[in-house]
Amino acid sequence: MSKHDQVDHDHLHYIGGEFVTSAGSASIEVVDPATGLRIKDVAAGDAQDIDRAVHAARDCFDSRAWRKIAPADRANTLWTLADRIAAHTDEFAELETRDNGMPLMFAKATIASLVNGLRYYAGMVTKLHGQTADISGNGRDLHAYTQSEPVGVVGSITPWNAPLGVLINKIAPALAAGCSIVCKPAEQTPLSAVRLAQLLDEWKLFPAGLINIVNGYGHIAGQALADHQDVDKLTFTGSTAVGKKLVHASAQSNLKRVTLELGGKSPLFIFDDADLEKAITGAAMAIFANSGQVCFAGSRLYIQRGIFDKVIEGVARVGAAMRLGSGLDPQTQMGPLVSAQQMARVLSYVESGIGEGAELVCGGTRHGEQGFFVSPTVFANRDRKPLTIAEEEIFGPVVTAMPFDGLEELEVLANATPYGLGSGIYTSNVSTAHRAAKLIRAGNVWINCYGILDKAMPFGGFKQSGWGRESGFEGIAPFLESKSVYTLL
Ligand code: NAD
Repeated sequence: MSKHDQVDHDHLHYIGGEFVTSAGSASIEVVDPATGLRIKDVAAGDAQDIDRAVHAARDCFDSRAWRKIAPADRANTLWTLADRIAAHTDEFAELETRDNGMPLMFAKATIASLVNGLRYYAGMVTKLHGQTADISGNGRDLHAYTQSEPVGVVGSITPWNAPLGVLINKIAPALAAGCSIVCKPAEQTPLSAVRLAQLLDEWKLFPAGLINIVNGYGHIAGQALADHQDVDKLTFTGSTAVGKKLVHASAQSNLKRVTLELGGKSPLFIFDDADLEKAITGAAMAIFANSGQVCFAGSRLYIQRGIFDKVIEGVARVGAAMRLGSGLDPQTQMGPLVSAQQMARVLSYVESGIGEGAELVCGGTRHGEQGFFVSPTVFANRDRKPLTIAEEEIFGPVVTAMPFDGLEELEVLANATPYGLGSGIYTSNVSTAHRAAKLIRAGNVWINCYGILDKAMPFGGFKQSGWGRESGFEGIAPFLESKSVYTLL
């Protein structure tokens, strides 16, 4: 183990309150998606590094170093962390933009949101309590109560589409519940986590080993965390395919608790009585924000038949007018995709759409020769034939528009997917809106808007979009165990 003042933090992991070298020598090349050029290399940890980090988290948990601090003081500390990160908004936002490609304004909004999340869960530290129960003691006089206790050592595995935001979504409730945590960020976007580790070390707000950060590849470091016998709970955001592997790893190891925030193929319905200007902008932003790399992106657009051409033209017009470029340019409205691999994946879906007979209304090509840009793409599928692009998650700026005839059709169309994450309804009829909201099997329904999130509202998916919820009161429950205590009086 080594700890220096002048260290190259990129090549170290943050374990047990120290910067340590990797057990192996592997590294990850971090690439700027706007240029395709290498930014730097970051250490790629393996199972030994994960094991060290889990031990550090276990030692911290078992020592009660964090849990024994009074709740009000722990709440203050989380609030202080929020303030400190907020003071570094510009720096973190720039790192996110360089690493992921997202426009700077979008990156700043994600930092503001994660700061709110920390404050929300700071407030919850002093509000965790059990219940007393008036139990039937079979003639015996009993006093019974429940208490909430932290689940233990948490393993966090996160994706690249909002790197720091999702990471803090895991850290905030875990720490509020009294857990310790080992974080494995996405290999495509490790820079904000590396910087967070540096700042955590500098600020010294938390006991050593409470927050550990190990960078590495998913199939190596991520898998080692999922397989580890001493991790009590996994909190994961990423693809449904990897989510299934984690459930398997839990079953094969120690039945660690698992919560999953997974993929989606979310439907957005525009009725002919909607405010069309708002609906068109809403539908366009539902798919083009963050280049479509959003788990709840509105990628299936259902337009009531009579207004189909008008709406599809409008969405295509918004897409075609978007300024693509480096996220660091303040004029940019849409940045690149995260990697060459992701660009190739999205373009192959475009090819499949054309091959299967969808009508390409706009976009569908790589934009420019540098970086990983794909132009905003709109397909029309007028006769609603089965299409891969209308069924599988693309995770890019590609929407498939289809006509529908009214509320009677909505339930079948909305739910004809293994996913159930987001959904949208644009209508001026309150009754239609709430009927539709009841019929859709998804964790989130947006009426006359799309993609609004708030820390007070639970977020998560039905069906194969996930297990459990993040945010709100429900978001802390998976980090707690409930204990029932009986006393014979
Ligand atoms: P991914 O599942 O490939 O990777 C996510 C994380 O899992 C990364 O840290 C990766 O290193 C790790 N990983 C990969 N293989 C692993 C393994 N075998 N064992 C353990 N960890 C492993 O997903 P991605 O491509 O990074 O992100 C895109 C996906 O994430 C999309 O499907 C998207 O819908 C989903 N997502 C969901 C939400 C949500 O809240 N529901 C939010 C963002 C992204």
